[in-house]
Amino acid sequence: MNILVINCGSSSLKFSVIDTQTGADLARGLFQELGSDSPNYKMESALLGAPNTGKLSPKAEHEEALDALAAFLASDALNISIQAVGHRVVHGGERFTSASLIDDATIEAIKACSPLAPLHNPANLLGIDSSCHHFPDLPQVAVFDTAFHQSLQAEAYLYPIPIELYKEHGIRRYGFHGSSHKYVTAEAARILGKPLDETNLITAHLGNGCSAAAVENGSCVDTTMGLTPLEGLVMGTRGGDVDPGILLHLHRALGMSIEEIDTMLNKKSGLLGLSQFSNDMRSLRQASAEGNSAATLAVSIFTRRLAKSISSLRATVKSLDALVFTGGIGENDWRTRSETLQRLEHLGIVIDPEANQNAGKDQNGIISQANSPVKAIVIQTNEELMIARETEQLVEKQ
Ligand code: ADP
Repeated sequence: MNILVINCGSSSLKFSVIDTQTGADLARGLFQELGSDSPNYKMESALLGAPNTGKLSPKAEHEEALDALAAFLASDALNISIQAVGHRVVHGGERFTSASLIDDATIEAIKACSPLAPLHNPANLLGIDSSCHHFPDLPQVAVFDTAFHQSLQAEAYLYPIPIELYKEHGIRRYGFHGSSHKYVTAEAARILGKPLDETNLITAHLGNGCSAAAVENGSCVDTTMGLTPLEGLVMGTRGGDVDPGILLHLHRALGMSIEEIDTMLNKKSGLLGLSQFSNDMRSLRQASAEGNSAATLAVSIFTRRLAKSISSLRATVKSLDALVFTGGIGENDWRTRSETLQRLEHLGIVIDPEANQNAGKDQNGIISQANSPVKAIVIQTNEELMIARETEQLVEKQ
């Protein structure tokens, strides 16, 4: 089945077309600056030579992006037909424990979760709305970033704050990056040769956003992100765990407004805030090698906190088969893996430095030594393929 996977931001639309039988990516692209004076796009396919780039008319929105996307897929050179559309939706609250066919009730429920993800869910709904309008005859499916973590028990998802905040306002830990954690969990079980429901892992998704999850018998039992994607690990521009008292202090003592604190936490912290010049691990590694001490410190804080979180997640699973690294940093930065694993020998992971430097390419991604009691594995994530597969499964059930 060919599935169009859509990931919408408020001014962007990212897509790929996945052939679920082969897992191949038939086409992909990105529309940016929608609603502005110069919306632009880049669409590409291995079936074509050069990428197709251009501008949409000023103020063009998601609807016009879908027109251009549909024309691209239907062009003589491509002629790709699609059988269903899978939408990435950031927050599914407690309502969605798995993907859901989109109908009026699903749309209402996604709207109801919007207060928990005010930047993301309304943008995701824009994409759903345009796509339902544009492809009225195709099944449309919502796949939630939070769904994989809905297996958390109350002891993992409740914050130790007054319980009525959960009961009346849904304030609890939800977790994110679910499609990525779920995808690499299935891949790790395959690599380890174990049934999924007997596989115990810690998965570390390290991209611009970073989160780790603890997986017991194939189900998620804990994760580092919480009510919002601000909690947990150090990220590109988000700091992860900080003393909540800092926020009160910034407001009371420094007079910072809620909006300023929001911007500081989401856009000015993490690797960027510490280094004061980049949120990008590659640039920081380079600067660090050239002697930039702020870059060195930022990276050290990143890996130290990562190891600390992984170590604490270990306490939430009864046993551990492997630690999985994924995401742009997890897949590509051997130094981050090495510096993190040096701190995790007590978990029974013995790194193979050579395999780590080539990301375990010769051994199915495994970067620990053959006799290491717990394995470390590098797995390339594929959130789009996960969304496409979940969409297909649901469509086939209908
Ligand atoms: P997103 O969360 O936006 O999908 P990615 O998963 O692409 O982001 O991860 C982006 C991060 O991966 C950046 O910090 C980038 O520097 C880092 N990264 C990508 N390639 C490398 C590399 N070869 N070495 C070190 N870091 C890398």
